[in-house]
Amino acid sequence: MSEEFLPFSKPSISQAAIDDVVACLKSGWIATGPKVAQFTDDLKNYFNAPYALPLMSATTGLHLSLLAMHLEPGDEVITTPLTFAATLNTIVLAGGKPVLVDIDPRTLNMDINLLESAITPRTRVVLPVHFAGLPVDLDPLYEIAGRHGLRVLEDAAHAIGTEYKGRRIGSFGDTQVFSFHPNKNMTTGEGGCVITRDQQMADQIARLRFHGIDRQAWNRYGKSGTQDYEIVLPGYKSNMMDIQAAIGIHQLRELGGFIVRRNELAARYQQALSDWPQWTLPQRPVFDHLHSWHIYTPLINEDAAGMNRNEFMQAMKEKNIGTGLHYRAVHLYPYYRQAFGFNLGDYPNAEDVCERIVSLPLFPGMTDAEHDRVLDVMYTLFNS
Ligand SMILES: *Cc1c(COP(=O)(O)O)cnc(C)c1O
Repeated sequence: MSEEFLPFSKPSISQAAIDDVVACLKSGWIATGPKVAQFTDDLKNYFNAPYALPLMSATTGLHLSLLAMHLEPGDEVITTPLTFAATLNTIVLAGGKPVLVDIDPRTLNMDINLLESAITPRTRVVLPVHFAGLPVDLDPLYEIAGRHGLRVLEDAAHAIGTEYKGRRIGSFGDTQVFSFHPNKNMTTGEGGCVITRDQQMADQIARLRFHGIDRQAWNRYGKSGTQDYEIVLPGYKSNMMDIQAAIGIHQLRELGGFIVRRNELAARYQQALSDWPQWTLPQRPVFDHLHSWHIYTPLINEDAAGMNRNEFMQAMKEKNIGTGLHYRAVHLYPYYRQAFGFNLGDYPNAEDVCERIVSLPLFPGMTDAEHDRVLDVMYTLFNS
């Protein structure tokens, strides 16, 4: 094969970040410490939020947030079938029951028009996913949630850098979870964070992420100045390390530039592919927004393409180009069929999209030449 493998996603790590990781390793303090404290402050500033909690992953962020919302067994959490399995897995792990609302086939986000009919007396939380970095229509969502007394937990794993009506996702609303996995808009290796404006949530997640330790409790008992602490509940071990935060501090500063490049590459795809019958291209809602283009996900039109999505992905791989599948419909995985009785046909829009969706290469370090190569290979594939 003449040309190198082009992955569908690749993190951009600056020399400054690498130098800071090395400095952290040499400093003698590599677990949670001053770098995590600085990253916490940087996140609070970025989101203009009172509480930011860096964690080992967004998955643990979703899990601990739902635990801190004190679900009772059988409590319902409404989310979308077009998401990563972690969204549903953590609902179950926190004791809840996932209830799904089909997607709008144009935006690929939860169809807000269907939300209210999914609410029951057991509903506690609405958990929208900002798919691909396109914001969910949050004004009507929060209006409905408010009217029914529901909490809102935004799975913003794709959406750091996204804006809704001029405001950053994470800068308003109830609680948001962001991912810093290497494929996401910015990375800390593994990692994630919770942003909230609710002090009780923040305190509970802080306890849950580190053994159930409450340092305020020992202050109250007059032991300040010592290394002592109290265990106030059985907690997890989900704290971020300084090695990770050393990367994250730089990534957050560079994020604006990443989002600009992601938008350029997405616009390039939209323009180049606009009259290709083989694709149905991503569509945009009418409300004002900034898309962060975590992934670029057209839908293949099988008849025009002469191949289905899986065959397309295989053919691209043979030409040394990586593509991604985000996602298979979560409700059709064996566990979800068996545990909750989901079936084929339950969410027809999501099921159709999940058969046709593919993520084409898009990452901030991608060159125009690499982008042209993807277009050329696809053109040859479809026209030979
Ligand atoms: C990546 C992702 C997660 C999980 O993020 P991690 O940091 O890998 O745990 C959750 N939800 C969605 C929608 C994601 O894409």
